[in-house]
This record gives sequence, structure tokens and C-alpha cells, in this order.
Amino acid sequence: MKKAPIEHRKEHFSLNRRSFIGGLSCSIGLTLLGNTSLASLASDKREISNNKKLGIALVGLGGYSGGELAPALQETRHCYLAGIVTGSPEKIPKWKAKYNIPDGNIYNYENFDSIKDNPSIDIVYVVLPVSMHAEYTIRAAKAGKHVICEKPMAITVKDCDRMISACRDAKKMLSIGYRLHFEPHNKEMMRLGQDKVFGKLQKLRADNGSNGTGGWRLDKELAGGGPLMDLGVYCIQGIRYTTGMEPIAVTAVEGPKTDPETFKEVEQSLTWRMEFADNIVAECKTSYSEAMNLLRAEAENGWFELSPAYPYSGIKGKSSKGKIEFKEVNQQALQMDDFALAVKNNRPSPVPGEMGRQDMKIIEAIYEAMRTGKRVAL
Ligand code: NAD
Repeated sequence: MKKAPIEHRKEHFSLNRRSFIGGLSCSIGLTLLGNTSLASLASDKREISNNKKLGIALVGLGGYSGGELAPALQETRHCYLAGIVTGSPEKIPKWKAKYNIPDGNIYNYENFDSIKDNPSIDIVYVVLPVSMHAEYTIRAAKAGKHVICEKPMAITVKDCDRMISACRDAKKMLSIGYRLHFEPHNKEMMRLGQDKVFGKLQKLRADNGSNGTGGWRLDKELAGGGPLMDLGVYCIQGIRYTTGMEPIAVTAVEGPKTDPETFKEVEQSLTWRMEFADNIVAECKTSYSEAMNLLRAEAENGWFELSPAYPYSGIKGKSSKGKIEFKEVNQQALQMDDFALAVKNNRPSPVPGEMGRQDMKIIEAIYEAMRTGKRVAL
């Protein structure tokens, strides 16, 4: 019996993963999957799917909302873009016209709480700078809405706890925007690692970095930290879902810091190591000054990797046995449809608040290791 994977997955997700993989006869490097809504396909067989699309309101109309989520909501089958919440009134006419959003579904940060009286909004999706995630998630739950919150979940574990409690108290569901759980190459990494297809895992590597950043991401108060919060969280996720295990200790070293002027509040780059049971180790790296994108696992009888591993499209995989190939999917559409189905069916989300909290716990340990130079046990 393999180890219980990351706490969220319990029954539903492994079931989903298995039936999806089994149903489509997937094998390493051989199978091309159609670009049908895969999560929906997998879920629809077992789940009630009435025709009512759930209404989603996006909070924060920045790059991710405008560039990815709103377009993805034109492709979803179980939810749609019903409303917007913005502090920038100048954005309203464009959004209204482009997405046909009625005036009654447009809010600002002051009148946001009155969304409780709007039955056409079922789900609030928080897409704001990280330090604002807690406040808007809690306000949304108190307004009686289910919540999707972007990654990283919050700037502290304490905030994650407040968010989870608020949703629990309101009897509303909380999910984190972990789109890669719905992406077939990354799902294949879960299968290959957790099912020990190449034997016992030994060593993993995860790198995620960008060449440049700006705005609130350089502001510690808003971002909570540097690239570890924004990009390194994908490495933590990748290692957790490939192993299906939780780290028992971390060590970390900051740097290189070649631009102390730009990076006066947050780290510019960081390397860290996560230790797991059975002598499994993961070496990771993140940076705002170096483009990198890798998730790799070495096991007793071979290796498997994605490079790039984390983008919205163009993910490529290979293993010691050949290519890992799947057709492109709309990750955000699958992620939001899965949450809508979770709400409709009253079943857990495979990417719940607890998963975001665990990542935040690991991030706090990595920062502590970075500050103290010590190995931090989890
Ligand atoms: P962005 O800077 O493009 O947008 C942020 C939005 O928040 C803007 O509309 C801005 O007006 C608003 N805002 C409100 N108060 C603000 C303040 N005090 N300072 C700055 N902006 C303020 O950022 P983004 O890239 O859209 O990121 C938003 C969230 O989405 C973050 O949590 C980020 O980590 C997440 N994100 C996730 C993915 C993903 O792939 N899952 C990708 C990009 C961003």
C-alpha cells in the first residue's frame, strides 16, 4: 500500500487520477490525449452535472485575471464569469463590454460585502497581491460565497488558518488556484512518482525562476516574500505531488543577490533542500533573475522530468524510457470547472485550503532555515 499522498488527495483525487489514467489507457511517452475538458470528462462520469453554470466573480483585475482567468471562463462548462470586483473604476467599461457583465454584478472593495445579496454569484475568486488574500477570502466566506484563492495562499500560516476557519464556519468551500493538478504532464509525474513506476524515488530537483519582476512582488508587505512565495511554491508543490510525501526537514541558502537595490525587501534568489523519509532528498532553486523551469525525479530504475514544468502551455516531458507527451489543455478552465463540480456535488476539492496551508508551512520553515542557517525540522 503506498503512502497516503498529500493530505488533500485522500480518496477523491486518487480516484480521479486513476480513472482518468485508466480510462484513457495512458502510458509513458506514448499517448496523446484529446483536448477535451479532461477533468470534466473524468468527473462527469461519476458526478451530477446539472445545466446550471455557477457564477464566478473575479476579485482583482490584473494580469492573471485579465490574461488567463477571464478567457478561460469563456471555455468552462460548469461556471462562467458573472461578476468583477475592482478598485480601478477605469477598468470597468472594458470588462463590462468584453464579458457582458451586468452593472449589478460589479463591485468595488468598499461595497464588496453586499455581494452576499447577489444570488448570481456563487464563487468568489481572489486574484490580488498575496497579503490581501486573507481579507478577501474571509469577507467572501462571510458573504456566503465559496472561494478560490490564488497561490500562495497567504503570507503566514496564521492567515491560512483564519481563512480555513472562516470558510468552515460559513459552510463554504475553499480551494487554491493550483492549476497544475489538472494538467496531464504534471498528473503523469504524480502517477510515475507515487506509483513508483521507476522504483523507489531517490533524488528530486525542482527549479522555477523568471528573468525579472516588479510592482507589488518586490514589496515585502504585499508579497510576503520574494520568488520563493511566487515561483518557489510551484517547486514545493511539484515535489510534494511527485513524491506524495511531506518533507521532514529543510535547509536553505539565500542568493545570489547581485542587485541589492531592487531586492532590498525580498530575496532575489534562493536554493533549498527538502528531506523526506527513506533518504529521499529534493534540491530546489528559485529566482527573479534567472529563468528556469524544471521538475525532475530520479528513482532506482530510471528518471522522469518535465522541462518546462509549470507554464500555462508548452510543457514538455521525458523519461529514461522516452517522451512524456500529452495534448495541451486549458489548465485554468479545468481547474475552475473542477471546483464548480465540487461545489455542485458537495465533494472535496483536490486542491483545498489545507494544501495551501501546508505549502505555507514549508515556506515559513524555508525562510527560517535561510535566516538562521540551521536545518529546520517540520
Ligand atoms: P497583478 O499585479 O497583475 O494584478 C494585481 C491586481 O490587484 C491588480 O488588478 C491591482 O489593481 C490589484 N490591487 C489591489 N490592491 C493592490 C495593491 N495594494 N497593490 C497592487 N495591486 C493591487 O498581479 P497578478 O499577476 O494578476 O497576480 C495576482 C495573484 O494571482 C497573485 O496572488 C499571484 O500569485 C497570482 N497568480 C497566479 C498565477 C497562476 O498561474 N496560478 C499566475 C499569475 C499570478
